[in-house]
Amino acid sequence: MKDLVPPQSADWLAVETTLKNILASYGFEEIRFPIMEFTQVFSRSIGDVTDIVQKEMYTFDDRNGDSITLRPEGTASCVRAVLEHNLLHQRAQKLWYMGPMFRHERPQKGRYRQFHQLGVECLGLAGPDIDAELIFLTAKIWRAFNLNSLRLELNSLGTSDERAQYRNVLSSYLEDFRGELDDDSLIRLEKNPLRILDSKNPDLKNVIAGAPSLLENLGEESKDHFHKLQALLDSAGIAYVINPRLVRGLDYYSKTVFEWITDELGAQGTVCAGGRYDGLVEMLGGKATPAIGFAMGLERFIELVASGADSDQSNADIYLLGADERFSGVALNLADTLRDGLPGKRIQVHCGGGSMKSQFKKADRSGAKVALILGGQEIESGEVTIKPLRSDEKQISVKQSECVGALSALT
Ligand code: ATP
Ligand code: MG
Repeated sequence: MKDLVPPQSADWLAVETTLKNILASYGFEEIRFPIMEFTQVFSRSIGDVTDIVQKEMYTFDDRNGDSITLRPEGTASCVRAVLEHNLLHQRAQKLWYMGPMFRHERPQKGRYRQFHQLGVECLGLAGPDIDAELIFLTAKIWRAFNLNSLRLELNSLGTSDERAQYRNVLSSYLEDFRGELDDDSLIRLEKNPLRILDSKNPDLKNVIAGAPSLLENLGEESKDHFHKLQALLDSAGIAYVINPRLVRGLDYYSKTVFEWITDELGAQGTVCAGGRYDGLVEMLGGKATPAIGFAMGLERFIELVASGADSDQSNADIYLLGADERFSGVALNLADTLRDGLPGKRIQVHCGGGSMKSQFKKADRSGAKVALILGGQEIESGEVTIKPLRSDEKQISVKQSECVGALSALT
């Protein structure tokens, strides 16, 4: 679990702000829900034989003896909240959330125990139009941040009936390789053999590569859905690779699944992953409702964004200083007037006294482009001296009441 400190915290804030604006431009609305739930919200929806439920959840009994879990992902909580507030009554929902998730994993680059996701969930829409729009949205995000190393992998998992059939085909294939399977996979072979396709064990690579493909076992409706999605992506020039081994980590997916992957982050290259989960709402007690969503790992995303740019080390645009004992009384008030008149500018008032020399040093270190000097003389005459710190321009003195105008011309 990581602390986030300046200047990196400014990178995060900037990224989050841009993401929120893009989401709003697609008509998505924010939903917030608690960072913990009754454990069964996750165990029922994510699936018993997933990594998350088997070994990654932070689960504890609270003081009432209720089993509580810190959220390892957002979809289950989001659906729980949507049902609790009856948001699906006569309308579909396009929702997003951003915040910390918790998984007890082996920490390494790009894999942490508290990490952050942007999650997007669309409930009540059967696709493939909305499937395509979600992928358009992710592609828009990459463009907004000038990222071009991400590639899209796409698959269809079909309906639950089709998966059940495929499960038999896959099981009989895997039975022949029983001796090569690891302990996890042997359990999965009994409970949910599809999950073996998602194994990270390199020794199973060949077994997995030779497995029969789910795509060949899709029914007409699922095939049609998948083809229409591809046509919509083609129409936007969004390139993709069909990966028949892509099954995703969670049990609740159906039909469309996708991942955006980069080679620029080392082993943890999946930045964004999502898919359709038509069965989940009913599983959590609602009416059968089609749904699709994705989650983007913000640590991986920001690492990718920041690798191309330097963090802004400055924390001020304008720095007010002065050694007169009346300084604070005048400066704190003038600064507030400036904040009203110069929206968006970062204005710092020197606090803590000290010599003019040491105050100028601090002004310089803040990165400010301009220092405003309020010495004894200025305070007497109701003026302020404007001193550019990053250019050779001369300093000027103006009436404090005309300071906004003079600064807008300058900064
Ligand atoms: P993986 O196969 O890498 O464990 P996952 O299938 O568990 O991924 P999801 O549950 O689909 O991942 O989460 C969506 C995204 O959230 C991932 O693609 C990744 O970017 C990010 N993510 C997941 N787990 C972590 C983690 N422990 N630390 C940082 N980011 C993570
Ligand atoms: Mg995982």
